[in-house]
Amino acid sequence: MSLKEPILKLSQSSQMKGFVTHNPLGRVVARRFVAGESVEDAVQSVREMNKLGIHVSLDHLGENTSNVEEANRATEQALEILEVIYNEKLDANISVKLTSMGQDIDYDLCYKNICQVVQKAQDYNTFVRLDMEGSDYTQKTLDLFRNLWNDGHKNVGVVLQSYLYRTEKDVEEMIKLGVRVRLCKGAYLEPAEVAYQEKAEVDRNYIRCMERLMSEGNYPGLATHDEKIIEHAITYANRNRITADRFEFQMLYGVRRDLQKKLANQGYNVRAYIPYGSEWYPYLMRRMAERPANLFFIASQFWKG
Ligand SMILES: Cc1cc2nc3c(=O)[nH]c(=O)nc-3n(C[C@H](O)[C@H](O)[C@H](O)COP(=O)(O)OP(=O)(O)OC[C@H]3O[C@@H](n4cnc5c(N)ncnc54)[C@H](O)[C@@H]3O)c2cc1C
Repeated sequence: MSLKEPILKLSQSSQMKGFVTHNPLGRVVARRFVAGESVEDAVQSVREMNKLGIHVSLDHLGENTSNVEEANRATEQALEILEVIYNEKLDANISVKLTSMGQDIDYDLCYKNICQVVQKAQDYNTFVRLDMEGSDYTQKTLDLFRNLWNDGHKNVGVVLQSYLYRTEKDVEEMIKLGVRVRLCKGAYLEPAEVAYQEKAEVDRNYIRCMERLMSEGNYPGLATHDEKIIEHAITYANRNRITADRFEFQMLYGVRRDLQKKLANQGYNVRAYIPYGSEWYPYLMRRMAERPANLFFIASQFWKG
């Protein structure tokens, strides 16, 4: 049996969350994938990546807030980091999860919060990416996005996941609108009713969607560490005379740093997704589920401890 499913189920467990986050070794492990808990930690990591010629998207960790105060706090934190990016002249934009800003509580609350963030980003001439969460949120997120777009906010983009059957159609809709799309494979546990279950099918759909976005889309973010897909993107770009300024590769903090540097040195735009903050538990578990071999890394840290 694959370990992916049990690990993703554990990502929802508050008992396990308590155990891992209260264990000092949990923090050590998290640091491989998370820049740290404070804004200062985040700024330091952005500077390191920027020195290597790598752009950044900063994510203040947090999701599924269940009360208005938490949703407003998440909004304040996003506004704060935009201020920091501007004042410190960092080469970074931000990624946000709508469930951190009240999507589970009330549409109007969430819309008001994200509007503030997108407006401030606009004032600072920067960009906001709406991360995509589980499939229960796909339509809601795209609907809210459309309202932002129709209200004149063009500095905002979406994420589409190639494991979902619907994504090819969503890609075409986003191409029509001229929206910046981040294409990823998808990190959540999804049933066969909505998502491909075989990796080969997810990868094939990724390539189909990627080619469409590279040919017709607006500066797509190709978010993957999959070297075969990255090579395919480069070959496709060369064959179709798509210049390197028309797309970017995106990768996660702590994953395939060698490849991030290599691509940046070759002249490709590369953006590292840097998460920070104290709510790192579900994020960490999704990274474990993507590559259960990471569990050996945890085991080795516990062994050393
Ligand atoms: C910038 C960025 C933003 C993302 N945003 C979202 C989002 O909004 N919503 C969403 O559902 N998902 C998001 N994801 C996660 C994504 O959906 C995948 O779960 C994740 O990227 C792993 O898929 P892969 O494309 O790297 O391919 P895979 O086939 O899973 O992996 C290819 C290779 O990459 C390496 N690798 C991949 N993951 C890891 C890891 N965790 N640790 C160590 N090595 C690894 C391994 O060498 C592996 O063989 C994002 C990913 C990136 C890079």
